[in-house]
Amino acid sequence: MVYVGPFETKESCQSWKDEYELPFPVISDEDGAIFKQLSNGWVPYTILVGPDGKVQLWESEFDEAGFAAAVEKLYREPAEAQPEPEPAARLAPQPAGRAGAATIVILGGGAGGLVAAYHLRRRFSGKHRIVLVDRSPDHLFQSSLLWHMVGQRRADQIRRPLSDLTRRGIEFINDEVVEIDLANKLVKTHSEKIDFDYLIVSLGAQLVPETVEGFDEMALNLYDPKGAGMINAALESFSGGRVGVLVTSMPFKCPAAPYEAALLVDSFLRKKGVRNKSEIHVYTPEHQPMPVAGPVMGEAITKVLGKRDIRYHPLFTFEKMQPGTHTIIPSGGEPEKVDLLIAVPPHQAPDVVRSSGLIGASGWIPVDKHTLRTEHEGVYAIGDVNSVRLANGKTLPMAGVFAHYEAKVVAEQIATELQGQRSDAAFSGKGYCWLELGGGKAGFAGGNFYNEPEPSVRLYPPMRFWHWGKVLFEKWWLRHWF
Ligand SMILES: Cc1cc2nc3c(=O)[nH]c(=O)nc-3n(C[C@H](O)[C@H](O)[C@H](O)COP(=O)(O)OP(=O)(O)OC[C@H]3O[C@@H](n4cnc5c(N)ncnc54)[C@H](O)[C@@H]3O)c2cc1C
Repeated sequence: MVYVGPFETKESCQSWKDEYELPFPVISDEDGAIFKQLSNGWVPYTILVGPDGKVQLWESEFDEAGFAAAVEKLYREPAEAQPEPEPAARLAPQPAGRAGAATIVILGGGAGGLVAAYHLRRRFSGKHRIVLVDRSPDHLFQSSLLWHMVGQRRADQIRRPLSDLTRRGIEFINDEVVEIDLANKLVKTHSEKIDFDYLIVSLGAQLVPETVEGFDEMALNLYDPKGAGMINAALESFSGGRVGVLVTSMPFKCPAAPYEAALLVDSFLRKKGVRNKSEIHVYTPEHQPMPVAGPVMGEAITKVLGKRDIRYHPLFTFEKMQPGTHTIIPSGGEPEKVDLLIAVPPHQAPDVVRSSGLIGASGWIPVDKHTLRTEHEGVYAIGDVNSVRLANGKTLPMAGVFAHYEAKVVAEQIATELQGQRSDAAFSGKGYCWLELGGGKAGFAGGNFYNEPEPSVRLYPPMRFWHWGKVLFEKWWLRHWF
């Protein structure tokens, strides 16, 4: 095992090695050349090389269970050890279920599940059952949590009842999924057992703030409606001091969100007249904002932060919170004191997915990048819960726009197969996002993430037009599917 210290000197690597009594070499990568070439910009980034010199696994973060399984596999089958298997690109079309009618079960009524259910229902009348299961009674439009955080939306304005889908002929079960039984093609909730012919898993990323000691006492969760409401209350009574926006670990959904949060807080405090008595800091393990979108995007966002006097702390590998002193501490670095801490909690695949046998070494569900099929027949995974490797070794970001387009592709494939034909619907890797800047302005970026060798993402300059585009999209989203 070798640890490479990006942008670290020989001395700092040695002192880190001594402090933690590390039994493996710690190599200095002072100019970040190794880091930039081999990683996707996240810290930590793990690469497992087999005895034949081939890369067996590479992943953002360090998923202990997935990594241990990959190492175990290497010991078990050293000769045949292969990278995490790509699921078969095309499987034989699935015949319709009993009596010619199929049951399609969709797990999760978030961005991906909602779109999949809608498109499937549009493709055929009542013949096939479409069942959507979510433990929440409501669909939440998560992007608007940022506006909720600064008091521009109420919580009830960014939700819609999933039970409204029944009007469209979609069955809705408001219950928690507790087991996915792939062998018997069965999903269990607390109160029901549902057989499926096709399964679409769109359960998103599970937020686990409880894995960070002190989170509850010290941090407000930006990614949760209750947390966003609490941030708004805290900002309303804020009279000056240091605001920290902290990314606790990688990966996290919507790579732009922490930056948007910092910019919106800046606007809020200016309007309130206390910006001159405040500091805003962004702490993140990334080496630049939105590393997957390339250096141009990173530089543009860093520049915007600088112009608004928002201090940026890249490569901040968060280790712990100390509520007593109100500090956040990076591994091997100095504590940072913050008065108001807005945090993105760690993400992981939902527990029920982790225990289902669907998970790959990355800790998420591996899928074919065009068809979104898993290696289990008739089972698809879309949105944040899947893991799609890009040509440059980075991972497709977790974003609603991808969940949306992936859902359409999967719905199209299932519907076509149920008509006894083969579908050539394929997800293209195209996506876009708005970057809300506050003060009624936004930037916009879009492109093809499947472009080779690197995603090609174009950035459009900030203007009011993009902000209104984002507002219109929100309105459209909350009307269109219900
Ligand atoms: C603050 C913020 C801003 C964002 N801004 C943007 C943006 O501008 N653009 C963009 O593209 N993306 C944005 N995103 C990301 C986007 O919201 C997600 O990527 C998207 O919602 C993922 O869709 P999904 O269907 O995979 O999962 P989700 O939408 O998270 O849905 C998962 C669903 O599964 C349900 N569920 C989970 N576990 C269970 C269980 N065991 N049983 C039953 N139900 C369960 C949940 O209740 C949830 O409804 C933002 C996210 C946040 C938090």
